[in-house]
Amino acid sequence: MAGFDFDLFVIGGGSGGVRAARKAAGTGARVAIAEDDRFGGTCVIRGCVPKKLFVYAAQFAEAFQDCAGYGWSVDGVSFDWPTLVANKDVEIARLEAAYRAGLAEAGVELFEVRAALDGAHSIALPGLDRKVTAERILIATGGRANPHRALNGHEHCITSKEAFDLERLPQSIAIVGGGYIAVEFAGIFNGLGVDTTIVYRGKEILQRFDMDLRTLLHAEYENKGITIRCHEIFTNIEKQADGRLKGTLSSGDTIETDAVMLAVGRLPNTDDLGLETVAVKTGPNGAIVVDEYSQTNIDHIWAIGDVTDRMQLTPVAIHEAMCFVDTLYRGRPTRPDYDSVATAVFSQPEIGTVGLSEDEAISRFGNLDIFSSTFRPMKNTLAQRSGRMLVKLVVDADTDRVLGAHVLGPGAGEMAQLLGIALKMGATRIDFDATMAVHPTAAEEFVTFAEPLRRIRGGKTV
Ligand SMILES: Cc1cc2nc3c(=O)[nH]c(=O)nc-3n(C[C@H](O)[C@H](O)[C@H](O)COP(=O)(O)OP(=O)(O)OC[C@H]3O[C@@H](n4cnc5c(N)ncnc54)[C@H](O)[C@@H]3O)c2cc1C
Repeated sequence: MAGFDFDLFVIGGGSGGVRAARKAAGTGARVAIAEDDRFGGTCVIRGCVPKKLFVYAAQFAEAFQDCAGYGWSVDGVSFDWPTLVANKDVEIARLEAAYRAGLAEAGVELFEVRAALDGAHSIALPGLDRKVTAERILIATGGRANPHRALNGHEHCITSKEAFDLERLPQSIAIVGGGYIAVEFAGIFNGLGVDTTIVYRGKEILQRFDMDLRTLLHAEYENKGITIRCHEIFTNIEKQADGRLKGTLSSGDTIETDAVMLAVGRLPNTDDLGLETVAVKTGPNGAIVVDEYSQTNIDHIWAIGDVTDRMQLTPVAIHEAMCFVDTLYRGRPTRPDYDSVATAVFSQPEIGTVGLSEDEAISRFGNLDIFSSTFRPMKNTLAQRSGRMLVKLVVDADTDRVLGAHVLGPGAGEMAQLLGIALKMGATRIDFDATMAVHPTAAEEFVTFAEPLRRIRGGKTV
């Protein structure tokens, strides 16, 4: 629109912001984006990507142990943390360059500075000592790890952000939290030979996931030597003369450890964003309040991704970006769809899940059939490994519709992606049953269940 420097100004060059900027520019809009750290955002620089690379690194430990049962002997293996960190950095730099190239090719103007609102249509770029104007503004500034300032001694702790770049691999670590980030890092550190403890205030790790997944993962983690202390919090963290940390727990016990990592949730990046200059509404935790189309209370200001604290996942931020572009630049008003979002937890063994947990299903549907099977994956047989796998379907007994599909074991994340298609299409148990098994696989369990393990009628197991 004439009169403004840009049609759209995007603040934040992470998963959501980059996609929105690129796609909006593709429609012919004049688009700019500001990023004050590195293009790619949390996912690429300090989230999904480095995390998955570290998971792969950690998995080699068991692979080296397991290979003996298959006739291999691998002598003298060793692990070098600085090599992993350096190689991870090379890969991230490659991806970051690809993000920049994609934006440049689409004709998006890049501002590599912090940005803040400075009036209805005005954006301040203090690093450049400059202001620009835009017809519309999209806030996609993501979130950051909660530094847990209420904890005495929190300044001695790290978060996932620092964990990716530690100078040395600690010999021991205590991870505070029971969410997916805590659980994934516990698997990573344990796999790399670090004495690992999870300290979680709740009753069981991975709240909001199906209880069978949670209890089996808990057992598998303990079998691998990870200590899990539920119903506990640290009340104090103290640095000792030798540089190690001493944590005091609510039970009065103490833990001496090389490092404490806080994974107690994420906070939206809305500080110093100038939201008050235009009175953009935020919720109690500082997240930007948006309607079902991602529009804020100010007509021309929109927000997507983690800064809105809806569902903190990369594909969701990208989906919200695509809906934003469809709505405003392609004449197709589109609401983000949060139904049946498949997700993975890259624990070891990993979790894949889509749809309702058994407990959620019980609270919404009276009559359920629960199909579930726990078994040792074939690869573990010759390896003499005891680890078990879980495959589970939660089915509405009245309609036969599959409400939830859950899996814990190798390849679970990959399975969840495909199960997500079936559930999105409204698949029934008969559809699963009518599907020919792929043999021998673990996923074939999903299509070969005979009888339900449990029948729930009127909310009660019968
Ligand atoms: C350890 C970890 C592991 C994760 N693993 C997964 C996973 O396996 N799968 C998954 O789907 N999701 C995962 N996530 C979540 C995922 O990374 C986020 O949901 C996703 O990155 C959100 O995208 P976004 O665009 O909203 O924000 P971000 O990707 O956080 O991008 C926001 C960007 O805005 C920039 N910014 C902030 N303020 C300003 C400002 N004022 N001016 C200019 N720039 C600014 C920031 O520097 C940042 O680059 C993980 C997150 C973490 C922390």
